[in-house]
Amino acid sequence: MFTVGSRTASRAVCTTNGSQLLRRSTLQALAASNRARLLSTETRASAGSKGSSGNNSNNEVLKSGAIATDLDPENKTVSIEHKSQRFNIGDAFTNDSEPIETTLHYDYLVYAVGATVNTFGIPGIYEHASFLKEANDATAVRQKLFNQIEASRLLPKDSEDRKRLLSFVVCGGGPTGVELAAEIKDYIFQDLCKFIPGIENEMSVTLIEAQHNVLSMFHPRLIEYTKDVFKQQGLNLQTDTMVKKIDDKNVYATYRHPNGKTEDVVIPYGTLVWAGGNAQRELTKKLASKIVEQQTARRGLLVDDYLRLDGGDQIYALGDCTFTQNPPTAQVAHQQGVFLAEHFNKQSKIEDLKYEIDSTTEEAKLNKLNQRLKRLEKKDKPFEYIHQGALAYIGSERAVADLSWGDWSTVALGGTMTFFFWRSAYVTMLLGIRNKIFVVSDWLKVAIFGRDCSQE
Ligand code: NAD
Repeated sequence: MFTVGSRTASRAVCTTNGSQLLRRSTLQALAASNRARLLSTETRASAGSKGSSGNNSNNEVLKSGAIATDLDPENKTVSIEHKSQRFNIGDAFTNDSEPIETTLHYDYLVYAVGATVNTFGIPGIYEHASFLKEANDATAVRQKLFNQIEASRLLPKDSEDRKRLLSFVVCGGGPTGVELAAEIKDYIFQDLCKFIPGIENEMSVTLIEAQHNVLSMFHPRLIEYTKDVFKQQGLNLQTDTMVKKIDDKNVYATYRHPNGKTEDVVIPYGTLVWAGGNAQRELTKKLASKIVEQQTARRGLLVDDYLRLDGGDQIYALGDCTFTQNPPTAQVAHQQGVFLAEHFNKQSKIEDLKYEIDSTTEEAKLNKLNQRLKRLEKKDKPFEYIHQGALAYIGSERAVADLSWGDWSTVALGGTMTFFFWRSAYVTMLLGIRNKIFVVSDWLKVAIFGRDCSQE
């Protein structure tokens, strides 16, 4: 068992490859809670745990790159694997390339692994499509795009294959698909065209969506506005088009006409990104299968109002791996992270007080400590999500925003001013001055020099 700080409770905070935003915000918020330790595949996330108090021994903060492979809720253990070349754990030091497998004991477990991409079992997605879930995915998409552009330039201008290689197709018109399609279009028109003159006339960006609308969670006015902006930008929007199969060159789909008739369509692609939504990770399914109360958990783990896992002993779960009345967004995960951090800080104070009470003999001081303990031990309020609105970037320095102020007012905005609002809201939500500076300086670099058009 790991003990953190001087005594009592140890806490393992467990995460694998969760959604980028979810992980960063949740973990940073949790790391603010004293004595939490993070197990993460991402350096930034584990760096957020610097606030851990107590002995900062080798095993105090587990380095990034550790992947949780199994959980045993009965014996309170997490099995982990680490593939790094150099890794310190306990007293053991290993520098060979064999993965290190070990088991951690926990007293409290926070489970925040996010979700993975939902492919709905559609044939060909895993083999041929890229995703946009992890930071590495973005690099892979960019690389693929460059490769296809280079390959296309070996072919004559009127070649069908050249046209196909220069087709960028995104499947799924949720916020991920819309923002990606918009960014790619910006990239081609604002930056790539300076390095490869004429590319803007040859490249196409297509967004395929099964439903009648993209961004279905937004106000209808904003959906129409998004469609108009896409039209102005020359971005092909193919709604009512359900993807059925993918091979190495084409997307096979069924288009539903307004009169209800369906037609098979084939959409050639050079680069394809699948953004069809969220599904549960294997680890989450494994955990659910071990807990009776989770047997009905199809869309995510079931938790109570205090984020305690139903049927789990001292396990808390939050973010996209859970199924609650709240949407699977970074905003929800962030607020849940803050809620849990406060909860753990309070528990920690209670334990400290109890220790102080045990070692105090002076009556007056004892009374005061007992009163403080009573106040602290009052039942916590359940977690309550405060929806502040939804924002999405739609290209050409324009964004859409569905904002709400409590239950009494909502407003739907779209345009360039909304884009600046989107940016300021984004910076405000980032935790830590360091992150804010990094992000703002990245934006400044892009504004001055354009996006990076060099190959990796
Ligand atoms: P999503 O579930 O919101 O959208 C997926 C889309 O794919 C849906 O519109 C669905 O109809 C479509 N789709 C599914 N199968 C299809 C098929 N066979 N053919 C064609 N289309 C198909 O997923 P997402 O966009 O990845 O978002 C996931 C979560 O993350 C959401 O809760 C979202 O709000 C959140 N998110 C928010 C932002 C933001 O606030 N700006 C950005 C990214 C993600």
